[in-house]
Amino acid sequence: MNEKKLPVVAYFCMEYGLHSDFKLYAGGLGILAGDYIKGAKDIDAPLIPIGLKWKQGYTDQKIGGDGKPYDAYHNYVYDFLEDTGVKVTVNIRKIDVVCKVWKTDHFGNNPLYLLDTDVPENKDAWITGQLYGWFDEERIAQEMVLGIGGVKALRALGIAVDVYHFNEGHAALAATELIREKMSGGHTFEEAWRATREEVVFTTHTPIKEGNEAHPLDRLEYMCGFNGLTRDQMERIGGEPFNMTVAGLRLARISNGVAELHAATANKMWKTVAGRSEIIPITNAIHTPTWVDERITKAYQAGGDLWAVHQELKGELIDFIAERSGIPLNPDNLLIGFSRRAAPYKRSDLIFSKPKLIEPYLESGRIQIAFSGKAHPLDDVGKQIISNLVGMMKKYPKSVVFLENYDMTIGAKLTRSSDIWLNNPRRPLEASGTSGMKAAMNGVLNCSILDGWWPEACIDGENGWKIGDTFETGDLEFQNQHDSDALYDTLLNKVVPTFYENRSKWVQMMKKSIETTITTFATKRMLEEYYNKMYIK
Ligand SMILES: *Cc1c(COP(=O)(O)O)cnc(C)c1O
Repeated sequence: MNEKKLPVVAYFCMEYGLHSDFKLYAGGLGILAGDYIKGAKDIDAPLIPIGLKWKQGYTDQKIGGDGKPYDAYHNYVYDFLEDTGVKVTVNIRKIDVVCKVWKTDHFGNNPLYLLDTDVPENKDAWITGQLYGWFDEERIAQEMVLGIGGVKALRALGIAVDVYHFNEGHAALAATELIREKMSGGHTFEEAWRATREEVVFTTHTPIKEGNEAHPLDRLEYMCGFNGLTRDQMERIGGEPFNMTVAGLRLARISNGVAELHAATANKMWKTVAGRSEIIPITNAIHTPTWVDERITKAYQAGGDLWAVHQELKGELIDFIAERSGIPLNPDNLLIGFSRRAAPYKRSDLIFSKPKLIEPYLESGRIQIAFSGKAHPLDDVGKQIISNLVGMMKKYPKSVVFLENYDMTIGAKLTRSSDIWLNNPRRPLEASGTSGMKAAMNGVLNCSILDGWWPEACIDGENGWKIGDTFETGDLEFQNQHDSDALYDTLLNKVVPTFYENRSKWVQMMKKSIETTITTFATKRMLEEYYNKMYIK
C-alpha cells in the first residue's frame, strides 16, 4: 500500500457496532463496520464513515414468562457526540427534512459522521428512530437520509472524497445525488453515470434473495427517491422493482463479496444482471483489540499455559451466565457457544434434530450449550426459533441456556470463553460469519459447516473441525438430514472424545487455531485488501 497517496474514501453503512451500549447496530453488518472504522484508525487510513444516529437503535428483546421473545425500545442519549454545526436537508415526500450531523471518534474509530432527523424543525423526526424498525416508505426515507443526506453532509463539511464505498445496498441512493450533481453541472445522464461509476465501490453481504431489498418504482417516486432522475433512468439503474443490490452492482466500478465462497455465490446469484460490476472476494475480518482477550494473546505469545487462561475465562463466562439466567454450568464439562440472529437457514436447533442421540449428553451435562440471538421484530418464524430454544432450556435445565437480548457484550463473552464455537448454517447462505473468527483467535475451537470464511481457515482436526463436506442440495429436508448426521459425527466422535480424553491435543489445537487466524483475519489485512483491490485504481 502506498501510504502517501491513499485515496480518501467515504464509507456508507446503515449500522455501526462500536460498543455494546452505543446502540447503532443490529448484527453482523454493523459489527463489521464498527471493526472496519476502528481498524482504519489503527492504520491511519483516510476513511470517512457515514451513518445514522438511531434514537432507539435495534430492539431490546427479552423473553416473557410464556417463553416467547418480546420487543421493547428505549430512547438513548449519548453525551460524547460532537455537534458539527452542520445541517443538510433531504426532500422526502415533498418535505425538506432537516438532518443534523453529529460526529464521534469516542471508541478509537475514525471520526464517524451521523445524520439525525430528530430535530425540532422536523415533522418527520422519526426517520432515524429505529434501526430496521420499519419497511417500505419508512425504510426508503431512512435510506434517502443515509445516501442522499450523506453525500450532502460531506459537501457541507467540506470533505473532498475520491471513492464512495456503499457497504451493502442501503446506501445505493447516494448515487442519485452523485449523478444529479454532475448533471446539474451540464453533463448528460450517461456521462454522469459513467463518471459516478468510476468513483463508487460496492459490497454485497447477503446470499439470501429476500435479504436484498427492492422497492417499487412508484413508491420510490412518491418518496421523491428519484432525486431528479427520471423513472426510466432509475429503472435502468435498479430495475422494477428497484433492487438496492442490483443498483449497487450497476453503480460501482467494482464490487465484492465478504468471503471467497460468498463472492462465487454472489456472482452466480446476480449472473443475469446486465451491466453490473464484477464481484471479487475480500474476506471479512475482526478488530482484534475489541474481541480477543489480552490474557489469551499474552499466554499464546509467551508460550504460557493456554488451558489455565482459558479456564479462567470460561469461569468468568459461567459466572456471567449464572448472573443472567440463574443456571450454574459446570466448568469441567464441554461448553458449546452458539449465538446468531434467529434465521431459519442458521438452523439453531439442528443439534436437537435427533433427540435420542443428543439427549444422554444433555441430561448428563457432558455437553452444555449457551445460545443467544435476536429475531427481527417482525419475523414470526425467527421468533418461533427463539421460543423453541427457550423450550430446550426448560427441558434440559442443567445444560442448555438461552441468553436473552443478544448484544456485543454477550457476543464477546461467548466467543472468548466457550470451548467450542458451533456454526451449522445451510451452505452457502452464511456470507462470512465473523463470530467464528473471534472464537478462533481466543483459542475457542470452531466446529463448523464449510461455509462463509471457514473453508479458508479450516485445517480439519488441527485448528478446529469441519462438519461434513461441501454437499449441497435444493431438497431442504435431505440437506438437513445429511448435515445433522455430519454434525453428530463430528461432535460426538471427534470433539467430545478429544475434549475429555486428550487434553494435550485440545490445547495444541487451541494454539493452532490462534496461529492460523490472528493476522489473516484481522482488520489490517482486510483494509489493505480494500485499498489495493477496490479503492486504489
Ligand atoms: C460478532 C457479532 C455478530 C456477527 O455474527 P455472525 O453470526 O458471525 O455473522 C453479530 N452480532 C454480535 C453482537 C456480534 O458480536
